Amino acid sequence: MASDAEAVSFQRLDDAGLNLHAVFDLAALPAELRAPLDPDRRYRRLLLVGHGGRRLWERVQAAGLASEHPIDDFTRAAVAAWFAAQLPGCAWTLVYPGDAPVGLQALGRLAGWHHESPFRVGVNADWGSWFAYRAVALVDADLPATPLQAGASPCLSCDDRPCIAACPAGALSAREFSLQKCIAYRRRPDSRCRVTCVARTSCPVRPEHRYDDAQIAYSYSRSLAMIEKFC
Ligand code: SF4
Ligand code: SF4
Repeated sequence: MASDAEAVSFQRLDDAGLNLHAVFDLAALPAELRAPLDPDRRYRRLLLVGHGGRRLWERVQAAGLASEHPIDDFTRAAVAAWFAAQLPGCAWTLVYPGDAPVGLQALGRLAGWHHESPFRVGVNADWGSWFAYRAVALVDADLPATPLQAGASPCLSCDDRPCIAACPAGALSAREFSLQKCIAYRRRPDSRCRVTCVARTSCPVRPEHRYDDAQIAYSYSRSLAMIEKFC
């Protein structure tokens, strides 16, 4: 460890729009999460980075990256700059974005970020569904572990559940999500969900953090491209 890990600041990541952070003690994580990422137990902490709201997209647009994966590339650079500034000389490695088998939603549950929604995107009381996982790094430093984000699932107090009625494919219910119905509907040329999820945009929780339309379209056009390639 090359610097005082107790004194790290996440302000630089916040400024980049990467404003959600959770530090886990790797040794305390369930073995099925930890073992594939750090089989030699080389690292001490896992840093989960996410974004909530619109700022990340604004920063990525301002950066003007002409790459195939501009959000990932922006995130990689921002995380590397943060380590260089806050933990110079510290050994770390980025396991997401990448090909490693990272249980993002499982980590999100452990952080208190992720509660299951009927449309299967995570939801919480602070950001609604307008947050996402952006990076996972393994760190050889004694960063203080982050307390669990408090707050119950907003779905527990959402009696009307408007997202369920809004899904034009009838893919949602309180207990089940039909991926088959969702995919079949999204592929239709007349689908209202080719570049959005109508159920997600119908959720009334934290509308002030809703991504702008260009970000929603970017995200869902990528998932549609995967559907059309592999399904
Ligand atoms: S509309 Fe209600 S049930 Fe649906 S995700 Fe939002 S809070 Fe949960
Ligand atoms: S993308 Fe469309 S079809 Fe799929 S769950 Fe959302 S609203 Fe339903």
